[in-house]
Amino acid sequence: MIGADIEGTICSRAQCRAEAVWVIEWRNPRLHAPDRRKQWAACAEHVRYLHDFLAARDFPVSVHAVDAVDAARNAS
Ligand SMILES: [Zn+2]
Repeated sequence: MIGADIEGTICSRAQCRAEAVWVIEWRNPRLHAPDRRKQWAACAEHVRYLHDFLAARDFPVSVHAVDAVDAARNAS
Protein backbone atom coordinates (compact mmCIF):
# COMPACT_ATOMS: atom_id res chain seq x y z
CA MET A 1 0.00 0.00 0.00
CA ILE A 2 2.94 2.33 -0.55
CA GLY A 3 1.64 5.73 -1.62
CA ALA A 4 -1.92 5.07 -0.49
CA ASP A 5 -1.68 7.85 2.07
CA ILE A 6 -1.38 10.46 -0.67
CA GLU A 7 -3.91 8.94 -3.07
CA GLY A 8 -5.81 11.79 -4.65
CA THR A 9 -3.37 14.24 -3.07
CA ILE A 10 -5.85 15.78 -0.65
CA CYS A 11 -4.40 17.53 2.39
CA SER A 12 -3.96 15.20 5.39
CA ARG A 13 -5.02 17.87 7.88
CA ALA A 14 -8.34 16.94 9.50
CA GLN A 15 -11.29 18.83 8.00
CA CYS A 16 -9.17 20.14 5.11
CA ARG A 17 -10.24 19.16 1.60
CA ALA A 18 -7.72 21.30 -0.26
CA GLU A 19 -5.49 19.87 -2.95
CA ALA A 20 -2.09 18.90 -1.59
CA VAL A 21 1.01 20.41 -3.12
CA TRP A 22 3.50 19.03 -0.57
CA VAL A 23 4.36 15.55 0.66
CA ILE A 24 5.68 15.22 4.20
CA GLU A 25 7.78 12.12 4.79
CA TRP A 26 8.23 11.15 8.40
CA ARG A 27 8.91 8.27 10.73
CA ASN A 28 8.18 7.45 14.36
CA PRO A 29 11.44 5.93 15.63
CA ARG A 30 9.55 4.15 18.42
CA LEU A 31 7.16 2.38 16.01
CA HIS A 32 8.77 2.27 12.59
CA ALA A 33 11.81 0.47 11.23
CA PRO A 34 14.69 2.72 10.11
CA ASP A 35 13.83 2.26 6.43
CA ARG A 36 10.10 2.89 6.95
CA ARG A 37 8.58 6.18 5.81
CA LYS A 38 5.09 7.49 6.34
CA GLN A 39 3.75 10.06 3.89
CA TRP A 40 1.28 12.81 4.55
CA ALA A 41 -0.02 15.13 1.87
CA ALA A 42 -0.37 18.79 2.72
CA CYS A 43 -1.83 21.86 1.10
CA ALA A 44 0.14 25.10 1.05
CA GLU A 45 -1.74 26.37 4.10
CA HIS A 46 -1.12 23.35 6.34
CA VAL A 47 2.34 22.11 5.37
CA ARG A 48 3.94 24.12 8.16
CA TYR A 49 1.36 22.96 10.72
CA LEU A 50 1.86 19.30 9.87
CA HIS A 51 5.64 19.62 9.72
CA ASP A 52 5.76 21.34 13.10
CA PHE A 53 3.39 18.74 14.57
CA LEU A 54 5.90 16.00 13.71
CA ALA A 55 9.04 18.00 14.43
CA ALA A 56 7.72 18.83 17.91
CA ARG A 57 7.73 15.07 18.62
CA ASP A 58 11.35 14.76 17.46
CA PHE A 59 10.32 12.60 14.52
CA PRO A 60 12.58 12.65 11.46
CA VAL A 61 10.63 14.69 8.91
CA SER A 62 11.26 16.01 5.41
CA VAL A 63 9.07 17.92 2.98
CA HIS A 64 8.95 17.45 -0.78
CA ALA A 65 6.89 19.00 -3.55
CA VAL A 66 4.20 16.65 -4.90
CA ASP A 67 5.58 17.14 -8.41
CA ALA A 68 9.00 15.92 -7.29
CA VAL A 69 7.51 12.82 -5.66
CA ASP A 70 5.48 12.02 -8.77
CA ALA A 71 8.56 12.44 -10.95
CA ALA A 72 10.59 10.11 -8.76
CA ARG A 73 7.82 7.52 -8.81
CA ASN A 74 7.52 7.66 -12.61
CA ALA A 75 11.27 7.34 -13.02
CA SER A 76 11.49 4.18 -10.95
ZN1 LIG B 1 -4.81 21.71 4.25
